[in-house]
Amino acid sequence: MTVYGTRPEAIKVAPVVKAIGANGDLSSVTVVTGQHREMLDQVNEVFGITPDHDLDVFAHGQTLNVLMARVFCGLDPVLEDQRPDALLVQGDTSTVAAASIAAFYRQIPVVHLEAGLRSGNILSPFPEEANRKITTQVARLHLAPTATSKANLLAENVDPDTVAVTGNTVIDALLHTVGEHIPFSDPRLRDIEDSGRRVLLVTTHRRENWGGAMEGVGRALRRLAERYPDTAIIMPAHRNPIVREAILPQVENLDNVLVTEPMPYGEFTRLMSLATVVLTDSGGVQEEAPSLGKPVLVMRENTERPEAVEAGTVRLIGTDEERIVDQVSTLFDDSSAFESMARAVNPYGDGKAAGRCVAAIKQMFGSGERLPDFDASQQRWN
Ligand code: UDP
Repeated sequence: MTVYGTRPEAIKVAPVVKAIGANGDLSSVTVVTGQHREMLDQVNEVFGITPDHDLDVFAHGQTLNVLMARVFCGLDPVLEDQRPDALLVQGDTSTVAAASIAAFYRQIPVVHLEAGLRSGNILSPFPEEANRKITTQVARLHLAPTATSKANLLAENVDPDTVAVTGNTVIDALLHTVGEHIPFSDPRLRDIEDSGRRVLLVTTHRRENWGGAMEGVGRALRRLAERYPDTAIIMPAHRNPIVREAILPQVENLDNVLVTEPMPYGEFTRLMSLATVVLTDSGGVQEEAPSLGKPVLVMRENTERPEAVEAGTVRLIGTDEERIVDQVSTLFDDSSAFESMARAVNPYGDGKAAGRCVAAIKQMFGSGERLPDFDASQQRWN
């Protein structure tokens, strides 16, 4: 049984749900909590997944505690009724923490996909760092995306036999979707694509950045739009009204800023491919854009994804307005600074993670062997 609730979880579980479904020895049941309503449905549609159960816990403005409680209460009868042999969760949301505790209390083995990411600061990302650590405590099988995430788990005394290094399934999803060459449905995006203009792609949603920091991001975007009138600044805005209220007033009435609704995954991967520079606080985008050779400036002070920072294609720049303007301007104005970051690297996966996950799950059930661990050093970097 796979339980997921947000857009990034849906993208990252999709390759595994598909691979479980295609494996004759396993059967798949999917449960969505609906933590992100529309954005979740959008992804299920792209991957052709129809959830078997929908807990529908989403409500505007509800607290994290109410959300957790609703996942517990919604999931428990489904667990009782279905009695799955294992429960798969992905990542670090409140859905993940609640679902893994609920399964643990019912003595159902928990499989944690994308296990072992750590920022080292329990307050940032909030509440995700804590959610991940909670799930680690109750998981029977840890599917770590990289050797670094495995090392994080071993440093917390997790039994090495319960850890498999799989690569991140987001790269499976990305490579599959980019290969579909899905066109933009919005004519304004088609025009920008046809014009060959420079594109700055922006996404922001992190809870730690809500409020003053996010308003600063909005002001930085305004200044960049005025400084580079030929550049298209494109921001698919997160559904969260707090994000919208902080940013949108700052960028209204600017001809070269295009704020869109959240994009279907296929179109978003096309937009990443089109971008010159990516400015984001997203975890998933930090993993995907380096594979497409895009420089990524991350509006956070720390990251639980150090691999692409070490490879030189991702830079942590925080949320200071001045710094954002400076860092983007440097990449626009200084070709050697740009070239040094614009290299395709794949420290997060090779597109074959789902197969490794399924093999490790089957081994946990006592059937078959694991596949060799994902080894980033074997990746060819352009
Ligand atoms: N994404 C998308 N449409 C958008 C913006 C992002 O499909 O308009 C995808 C993106 O490719 C990535 C995921 O959503 O795979 C990231 O989600 P988000 O930034 O919400 O969450 P995080 O990764 O930070 O947890």
